[in-house]
Amino acid sequence: MQARRKSSNVLLDTALQEFYGAADEMGLDEKLVSILSHSERRIHVSIPVEMDDGSVNVFDGYRVQHSTALGPSKGGIRFDSEVDMDECEALAMLMTWKCSLAGIPYGGGKGGVCCDPLNLSKKEKEKISRTYGARIEPIVGNWSDVPAPDMNTSGQEMVWIMDTISKMRGKLEPSLLTGKPIKYWGSQGRNEATGRGVATCGLEFMKVLDKNPDDVTAAVQGFGNVGSYTAKCLNEAGVKVVAISDITGSYYSENGINIRRAFEAIHSHPKKLLEGFEKVGNCEKIDNVLFADAEFLFPCARDGVLNRDTAGSVKAKYIVEGANGPITPDGDKILDDKGVLIIPDFLANSGGVIGSYFEWAQNLQGEFWPEEEYNNKLMNIMKGNFRLVWDYAEAKHLKMRRAATMAAIQRVADVLEMRGIFL
Ligand code: GLU
Repeated sequence: MQARRKSSNVLLDTALQEFYGAADEMGLDEKLVSILSHSERRIHVSIPVEMDDGSVNVFDGYRVQHSTALGPSKGGIRFDSEVDMDECEALAMLMTWKCSLAGIPYGGGKGGVCCDPLNLSKKEKEKISRTYGARIEPIVGNWSDVPAPDMNTSGQEMVWIMDTISKMRGKLEPSLLTGKPIKYWGSQGRNEATGRGVATCGLEFMKVLDKNPDDVTAAVQGFGNVGSYTAKCLNEAGVKVVAISDITGSYYSENGINIRRAFEAIHSHPKKLLEGFEKVGNCEKIDNVLFADAEFLFPCARDGVLNRDTAGSVKAKYIVEGANGPITPDGDKILDDKGVLIIPDFLANSGGVIGSYFEWAQNLQGEFWPEEEYNNKLMNIMKGNFRLVWDYAEAKHLKMRRAATMAAIQRVADVLEMRGIFL
């Protein structure tokens, strides 16, 4: 038996230990345990950029393909100052389980560039995106590895990357990445898909708990692509969203935050932030949205926020993970001891990649679906997947995270058995 991997990176170690735990619980063949605890490919690229002031900065970029057992590796590209190879590897593994559980024909990948996006001009971001795209060009493609937006990236970065690669290849390949703007090969509904999926999962959770959304209060951490649409969709379903946040602070209103106004606030802010929202939103600033007085908590910002120092102060009874990896193992233990029920990230936020699959399928067929069709398909899949994991967890007396991991591993293992290990 090959020695099991450990990592000093919290996110990677969490992903590995959860994988080993689930693999042991389901009695997974040790050969498959070894294979799936490693990534198929990890690349590190340097990205030299001439900055606006004339100096040259060399940024580090990464792309990890954890598994292509089920299909092309799929996963976002993030711009963040904490990006490194270990983080990408952890998130790529998470993508393998996410795609497997979602029932879509993809493996898992993730990439990113270590940079501080809030302090970069549009021109500098364009240069980073294009050079990063050129450097990873040999390994991406619609049947090999299909990137998408992630933390601090959007349709604009996808267009720069796609445009660069299309020019290098001398042909347009819209399906080589997803999350593109609607005007340029994107899909109606994709922008809201992750948040809509998180909210759908939360509403299904309320249903099995026998709760009426009209009587539920929620706090949503993060007001980027995931958090903002999660709050919007919850609100539209009747949930009172009492607290929201972004890097400028946490905003609370006992009577419910006016989500439409919050959208107006970010749209009129140069950096798309909630700064000053307490005035226009008629609400108060509080210390931390994670500790807000709300029954449900949706952490939709970043990894590791619910940890040894913060988990004990959470008031919510139910957590739906909108971000990837928002709870550390220490945090998980504290919340579990408090009896908090948690819906894991790779189930709750899978709406993004399911939506990406719809976009990819449309691109391959040259089709453009109406938004209603896209949203209905997305919500039906999310509801079905939630029920599947919920019923499995109930039947086997497992926590949702363990049940979801086991179900996800099983499909990958079955396909690896069929294909053989020499991929
Ligand atoms: N970045 C999103 C995620 O973490 C979407 C990935 C994709 O669509 O490929 O799930």
